[in-house]
Amino acid sequence: AKEDGRGRYRVFEDGMNARIQARRSLEVDLRRAIARQEFTLYYQPQVDARTGAYDGAEALIRWHHPERGLVSPVDFIPLAEETGLIGPLGEWVLRTACTDALTWPANLTVAVNLSPVQFRDARLATTIRGILAETGLPGSRLEVEITEGSLLQDEQRTLTILRELRTLGIRISMDDFGTGYSSLSYLRRFPFDKIKIDQSFVRQTPEDKDSAAIVRAIAMLGTSLGLKTTAEGVETQAQSEFITNEGCDQLQGYLISRPVPLEAITALFAGSSPL
Ligand code: C2E
Ligand code: CA
Ligand code: CA
Ligand code: CA
Repeated sequence: AKEDGRGRYRVFEDGMNARIQARRSLEVDLRRAIARQEFTLYYQPQVDARTGAYDGAEALIRWHHPERGLVSPVDFIPLAEETGLIGPLGEWVLRTACTDALTWPANLTVAVNLSPVQFRDARLATTIRGILAETGLPGSRLEVEITEGSLLQDEQRTLTILRELRTLGIRISMDDFGTGYSSLSYLRRFPFDKIKIDQSFVRQTPEDKDSAAIVRAIAMLGTSLGLKTTAEGVETQAQSEFITNEGCDQLQGYLISRPVPLEAITALFAGSSPL
């Protein structure tokens, strides 16, 4: 039994070492990946729920690792955040998204995800202003999507950054709405333009009565507060109809399109309305 226990401990330890090793090698690769241009942005369209017309697209990063293949942002964004690489990576995302959006019809916006770690840099708004100036994209065509994590930090600094972004005409979306601890109080304290209803609620709508009730309540909340609402993760016609009937403004999800490379989104935008 003793031996058995030791053996198991060793297996556990080896497993941990292996994980630490894997993480280190991924970190080394991540540092090289920007210079080697291994990242690309995919774009997922957002449509006006009532007219079905395109409103714009959300930029979603992809990493084509030379040996590992496609690495999900869910796996490398946290590592980029821990290592500080999210700074240069986030700037690359912003610059690329602004440049790409300039090739789309002028009424369409691009939405970029910002990490809470990017908000620790008080110069974030200045950096974004510089990227707008450099690329020539009007601020009114840029949206930033932030999660509760960004609001949990130094409140004054975050508020200052968000207000600066708004003076540039940039719209601010609260991502994954409904999953955090204090979503409602944040709506009151920070200057949002839009709330994105988390896919976990959308996914089970309309069959699950509780999810349907939550989607309805968030849509009403948006209307009352004068905020746009976007439902993300819309996969079925039934979801689309229910959500639109409840007064949601925008739809995003596989029903309309999966995230696609720039050439494909440009082709979609050149075509007619998907709905
Ligand atoms: P998110 O911002 O909540 O993005 C939505 C995620 O849902 C995306 O996953 C998208 O591909 C996926 N999705 C969209 N529609 C559907 C649908 O109908 N069904 C299903 N099952 N999924 C759908 P993705 O691209 O893997 O991104 C995951 C997360 O990684 C994002 O969640 C975001 O938090 C983060 N992320 C992605 N790109 C960036 C980036 O450039 N910067 C930062 N900081 N984070 C990013
Ligand atoms: Ca997002
Ligand atoms: Ca989301
Ligand atoms: Ca998310």
